[in-house]
Amino acid sequence: MSGSSGGRSIFHERDGELWCEGVPLSRIADEVGTPCYVYSETAVRQRYETFSAAFAGLDSRVFYSVKANHNLALLRVIRELGAGADVVSVGELYRVQLSGFQGSDIVFGGVGKRVDELEAALSAEVLIINVESEGELRRLNDVAAAGSTRAPVAIRVNPGVEPDTHAYTQTGHYRTKFGVALEDAADLYDLAAGLEHVEPVGIDAHIGSQILTAAPYREAIFRLADLARRVLKTGVGLRYFDIGGGYGLEQHGDAEFDLATLAEPLGEVSSELGLTCLLEPGRWLVAPAGVLLATVLYTKRLGDRLYYVTDTGSNDFLRPSYYDAYHPIEPARGRSGSTVADIVGPICETGDFLGRERSIPPLREGDLIAVGYAGAYGFVMSSNYNSRPRAAEVVVRGDAFRVVRRRETLEDLVTGELLRDEQ
Ligand SMILES: *Cc1c(COP(=O)(O)O)cnc(C)c1O
Repeated sequence: MSGSSGGRSIFHERDGELWCEGVPLSRIADEVGTPCYVYSETAVRQRYETFSAAFAGLDSRVFYSVKANHNLALLRVIRELGAGADVVSVGELYRVQLSGFQGSDIVFGGVGKRVDELEAALSAEVLIINVESEGELRRLNDVAAAGSTRAPVAIRVNPGVEPDTHAYTQTGHYRTKFGVALEDAADLYDLAAGLEHVEPVGIDAHIGSQILTAAPYREAIFRLADLARRVLKTGVGLRYFDIGGGYGLEQHGDAEFDLATLAEPLGEVSSELGLTCLLEPGRWLVAPAGVLLATVLYTKRLGDRLYYVTDTGSNDFLRPSYYDAYHPIEPARGRSGSTVADIVGPICETGDFLGRERSIPPLREGDLIAVGYAGAYGFVMSSNYNSRPRAAEVVVRGDAFRVVRRRETLEDLVTGELLRDEQ
């Protein structure tokens, strides 16, 4: 669970047990049950402070990417820290408004916004709506006209760069659906400048996720700055330069993304062009702040293969199956030694695993395990597949913890479904 500035002191071993801040994970499991997501409020605060400090010298603002973890309790903490919110749906907009974010704290993005979502963004008076196609720009203009208002827009540019990350988390080249082609963007700014009900205020990109090197960002910044220069020359009053998120965390011992390598080129652009830089971290802020707790139900062998079957899997935590993501898995209570095992879930899918061929101390039935770096893209991607109620979520602060989302019940599973005699 260690390995990050926030993580090391937060999730730590004491008396042969894993603790989160001042609480042994076993106590949470005893009281709340498993599976259960556990987030450290202190870790989120520390991560945010570290992130902000890296960009302290820059005219910039942080917009937390809500899709990484949308729990209201965490959103509240992040708002109190001073961040804005980057949302990609009317549902996320609803959540951030419930958590106290003002319109001026919100950037609204997403590749496929419906009319009702554009309307919601306008009535929330969000700071910027990121537009991803000519059709969307025209539709937004119509929606704003109908509401007798003017929409502040940025055009999300696809800069055509290919970061070294999983294919499913690349979003900045032309074999992905995102944004407007770099070579078409200037024309779109011309179009926007001529439309009465949109006001181009920014330029935006997001090139992917779990990116560990500066090179693709530098290239994207370089290409966007070039475009911004041309657009500014046409008299369009750009104010914001949004480089998105995607800052990666260490896996398998490689280093965490070095924020300083981003601060430097952004600083140059910001001072040359007089633009405020927007940053949209998701994973970087919250992934190391969370673990997923689970219980080993069975241990078994198939030939020479050892399996630990747990009470959580791809229904609760999709990342290992979907992105082939590596997450550390540790016993949460006093086990030593080493064996090699597949740690799998209860779902009827071969792709349902938490980790394969892992070196791990031998586990027994009833043992508690913690899956690390689960604070981002964990609960938010969970489902009720196989009709499994979704996990509880807990926030720890100091030596206290509280349930911030109760475990779903069987009744929750059928809420909204109607039998014929009820219609
Ligand atoms: C997902 C996303 C982010 C955050 O990505 P992370 O990898 O979690 O930092 C930021 N901006 C946009 C537009 C996104 O879609």
